[in-house]
Amino acid sequence: MAPAAISSSISSGLSDENGYVDIDWDTLGFGLTSTDYMYKMKCFKDEEFTEGKLIPYGNIELSPAACVLNYGQGLFEGMKAIRREDGKVVLFRPDENALRMRIGAERMCMPSPSVDPFIDAVKQTALANKRWIPPPGKGSLYIRPLLLGTGAILGVAPAPEYTFLIYASPVRNYFKEESAALNLYVEDQFDRASRGGAGGVKSITNYAPAMKPLAKAKNNGYSDVLYLDSATGKYIEEVSACNIFMVKDKIISTPPTKGTILPGVTRKSMIEIAREQGFKVEERQIAVEELLEADEAFCTGTAVVVVPVGSITYQAKRVEYGTTDTNSMYKKLSSIYVGIQNGQIEDKKGWIVEIN
Ligand SMILES: *Cc1c(COP(=O)(O)O)cnc(C)c1O
Repeated sequence: MAPAAISSSISSGLSDENGYVDIDWDTLGFGLTSTDYMYKMKCFKDEEFTEGKLIPYGNIELSPAACVLNYGQGLFEGMKAIRREDGKVVLFRPDENALRMRIGAERMCMPSPSVDPFIDAVKQTALANKRWIPPPGKGSLYIRPLLLGTGAILGVAPAPEYTFLIYASPVRNYFKEESAALNLYVEDQFDRASRGGAGGVKSITNYAPAMKPLAKAKNNGYSDVLYLDSATGKYIEEVSACNIFMVKDKIISTPPTKGTILPGVTRKSMIEIAREQGFKVEERQIAVEELLEADEAFCTGTAVVVVPVGSITYQAKRVEYGTTDTNSMYKKLSSIYVGIQNGQIEDKKGWIVEIN
């Protein structure tokens, strides 16, 4: 996972005859590749977001007393625009991201764009940066909406002014080859989220505290951290930035999203797909010991889509899962999910939004 070493200076280059920016799509990574435009909309406290616009991508200016800098009043979202073989550019369930931002904004005392203006802004951002959307199969344009309390305030209180920003970066597919599997470390010292906290919304405040446990796990050779519930330390919750599922005797289980787990759009979609395929899906508490006995485990999120878990390490015990079985649940579900996204499987649910 080397960061992309592509600088924004390339963006001043011309597009090629097919309308793409002149970069080597095969060397794309997950790092930030800045694009041409970003979207910006502002409003005051107790008002509504009404009009935003595309502006050239670049730095933003903030007061040192901006609420987001001092007190972390901010939310983010993550979604993708995908270019299909037929040239269509599509978004996947953008209404879900819009709604999730609204729920988060309520928790963080911020005004937020309504669903339609949110989706419209995402579309505008994707189309303005169209030459940066990778060719079919080479990746996607990762779209990052932000909602920030940018107004200056000294005491702890909601900011007097807010900024909704969207920027985008092309990223490669997580699976370059069918090789990636996560080696998860079950964290029993640090918690990610507590009851009544902000773990159930995409608050920017959730992520800095997770950097230390993640760095520790990576230093010890693990791919990521699996968190336990903070109340009892017995039940699995989620990985740093993706949700987790387990499969035992063909029954799929995942922890319930009751405030301490981020309700992933991929998670929700995977549950719906699995149920439609006739599988039983349970949303329930899962003790870590039960996960260790599972036949299979996998994680879901916009960035990774679906990725198998290769091993789990809990205290001194390491359990390995087979990840190469072609009958595995994660392969079945991910092929349907990806098929709906790229148009090979008919979208009967209205999940796909074409934007060009
Ligand atoms: C964003 C995120 C997820 C995954 O959500 P998706 O909507 O599927 O991308 C899971 N957990 C955390 C903590 C997240 O921030």
